[in-house]
Amino acid sequence: MNKLIIGLDGYDSNFSGCTTHFTLFFLHYLKKSLKQFRLIGDPLLVRLNPNIPFKTRGNASVSVMLEGNLSYEDVLRAADEASMIYSFEKKGTIAVAMLDYVSDEKKRRVLSDFYRKSVTDFVPHKLAEEIAEEVGVAVEGYKSLVGALASIGYAFSGDDSTFELLAYRDPRNMGERSVDREYVARELLAYESLFNNVGKKKNRLVAIPRGPDPVLIGIRGIDKRDLLKAFAKISPHMEKSSSWCVFRSNQHTDPHAVPRKIGELRVYRMGVIEGVVVGKPVIKKGGHAFLRIKDASGDIEVAFYKETNPMNVVASKLISGDVLRVLGGAVDGKGDEAMIFEAEKLWVLRAPDLEVKLNPKCPKCGARMESAGKEKGFKCPKCGYRFRGKLEKETIFLKRELPSGPISPLEGRLRHIVKPPELDGRPLPRVNFTVTEEPACFF
Ligand SMILES: [Zn+2]
Repeated sequence: MNKLIIGLDGYDSNFSGCTTHFTLFFLHYLKKSLKQFRLIGDPLLVRLNPNIPFKTRGNASVSVMLEGNLSYEDVLRAADEASMIYSFEKKGTIAVAMLDYVSDEKKRRVLSDFYRKSVTDFVPHKLAEEIAEEVGVAVEGYKSLVGALASIGYAFSGDDSTFELLAYRDPRNMGERSVDREYVARELLAYESLFNNVGKKKNRLVAIPRGPDPVLIGIRGIDKRDLLKAFAKISPHMEKSSSWCVFRSNQHTDPHAVPRKIGELRVYRMGVIEGVVVGKPVIKKGGHAFLRIKDASGDIEVAFYKETNPMNVVASKLISGDVLRVLGGAVDGKGDEAMIFEAEKLWVLRAPDLEVKLNPKCPKCGARMESAGKEKGFKCPKCGYRFRGKLEKETIFLKRELPSGPISPLEGRLRHIVKPPELDGRPLPRVNFTVTEEPACFF
C-alpha cells in the first residue's frame, strides 16, 4: 500500500468538461479497471493567476490523494486512457508523487512556494519542469504542467480554503437544466456558511451555470457539513446528477494578496499595493476610472473598470493626496502606459476633508462677495458694496463621503480567487494534508 498525491490540469475538452469533471471521470475509470484504492482527504480545486492569457478554461487544476496498490505507471496510464475516452485525445497533464517521498519538509516547501508563485505571478514552463525534476514528481503531458504541479503544492501550503460542492449533469440530459430554482435559492440562502450562490438582485441562482456545461450546480461555502445538508435537501428538486464531489479550494480566499512595492510589479504579477494618488482620476467612456498612484519605489496607472462597480465610482471621487490600498494584478498597458494595474479590491486608507477657500462675506449685508477682478478687491452682488482693501478668504473643510473598504465588485462580477466581502474578517479553514477528513465524493 502506498499513498500518492496526483495533480491534474488541462483536461477540459472543447465540447464540454473541465478538469474537476475529468477528475471524477478518471477516478471512476480507475475504480472500474479494478485498481484497489481509497480517496483520502478532500480533492483540491486550485485556481491560479487569472491574468495569465494562455490559461485553460476556468483556470482550475485539481489534486487528489489516493491510497492503494498503485504504481506511478498505473496512474499515468489510466489518466491517458481516461482522457482518450473523455475527449477522444490525449489531453492535459498529470503529475504524480509518492506522499512518503514528498513528506520531506524541504520538498514540501519547494512545492508550496511553487503554488504561491503560480497564483501570484508569471511562471515559465521551464521552472515547472525543473521543480518536478528536483522534488521527484512523475509527469505525463506537457502544456498544463504549471497547474498540475501547483495543485499539489497547494496541499502543502497551509493556506486558507473554502469548499465547493460540484454536481454534474447526466450527459443524457441536454438543454435547459430542470431545477426548482425558487426552492433551491431559498434553501441555499438558509445557511450562514454558504456564500456567493444566490445573487442579491432578484435572487438569481449564480450556483447554476448557463449553457453547455457539465456542471449542474456548484454550491460554495465554508462549512462542509452545511454543503452536504443543503445538497441532500435540494437534490429531489433538481434533475438527477451523475456524479458529485466536495472540493476544498483556494477560490474566494484572496490567495494572491501578497504585499508588493509598486516598483516590484511586472506584467502578470499580482498583489496588494499601497500608494498616494497623484493627480485627478481620468474617467473614460462607459465609466472606467483610471488613477495614478505612487509609493517610494515607483508609480503606476490603476484601472477601475466599470465592471468592478461600485469600485470605479469610488475611484472617480478620489483626489491627489488620498492614500489607497489596492488588490489586483499588473497587465500589459495600452497606449502610453507600458503596464497598468487592474484593481480587484480597494481600500481608502486616507481621504482628508477637502479644503475649500471661499470669498469673504459682505460686511454690510452678509452675502458672499465676488471678486471684482485681479487686485481690485471684492464687490457684493446683493447690495453693491465694494471693498478695495485686503479681506481674508474663508477656509472651509468639505467632508468626503467615502467608504473605507474593502470595496469589491458586485456578486457575479467577482473573480474566482477574490474573497467576497461577506467572508472578510471571518476565519477560514486551512488546507492541511495531514488532517484528512472523510471525502464526500460520488463517482
Ligand atoms: Zn452686501
